Amino acid sequence: MLLAPLAACATTTPPAVTGAVPASPPAGMQYLYGSGEGAALSVQAWHGLLGYVAGKMKARPADSVVLAQGASLDAPTFVPCGDKPLAAVFDVDETVLLNIGYEYHDATTGKGYSAADWDAWEKTGEGAVAPVPGADHVLAALRKMGVTVIFNTNRSAANADATARAIRAAGLGEAVHGRTLYLSGDDAMGSRKDGRRVTIAAKYCVIAMAGDQLGDFSDLFNAGQAVPARRAATMTLPIAGMWGNGWFVMPNPVYGSGLKGGFDEIFPMDKRWAPPAKGEQ
Ligand SMILES: [Mg+2]
Repeated sequence: MLLAPLAACATTTPPAVTGAVPASPPAGMQYLYGSGEGAALSVQAWHGLLGYVAGKMKARPADSVVLAQGASLDAPTFVPCGDKPLAAVFDVDETVLLNIGYEYHDATTGKGYSAADWDAWEKTGEGAVAPVPGADHVLAALRKMGVTVIFNTNRSAANADATARAIRAAGLGEAVHGRTLYLSGDDAMGSRKDGRRVTIAAKYCVIAMAGDQLGDFSDLFNAGQAVPARRAATMTLPIAGMWGNGWFVMPNPVYGSGLKGGFDEIFPMDKRWAPPAKGEQ
């Protein structure tokens, strides 16, 4: 059949920018959804992931990259692989899929995050998504290599079917709830993903993970640390050794746990500068 049944996601004329909207989208959106630099950074991360997995598959790893229950960031231990089949685990939003339609709505209304609007987006947004640059190609390559691609997202389990459609519409392949798609509401831990990760790692040797938020790797990063302590936790060995070596971070300057902190947290007292007064130059 030549004509695919697109009617389900067809829309009327897309909304245009009207009324009192900013002259241009916020800088983070320009970078993530519009810039060549943002696209290249994403492709770079996906290339790194694919190369890492290809290298790891030559000798079967002893351990998964999922932290074992009871592990700490200071003394991380990982779920053993045993003879489990290989999988890679991915967050969805701004990791494999760009929510361009929702962010257009956000930028032009200036409403900020709205749970009701986001729920409606999960249900109806499949026509206005795109793959994160590189994700579509790399997920297809991983499947060809025999690695099961599993999505672990904080989208709602109630919208599982619509999320599977959005993943497919972005060219990211098939996702089956409970097998290759895990969502918020699948267990009693809400938006915390450690439980879902442990469930997945019980069945699979998880060879790589990717996400745009630290919670996509471990809930331990979200235990209420101040901004500088949270940053330091990512740079301290042995966790520092995980980035690019099993854990892969995608850029997200648009929203999320990375966008926090006042002047005192972002600019330490010993790293402040002002031009010298005239006469001192
Ligand atoms: Mg995300």
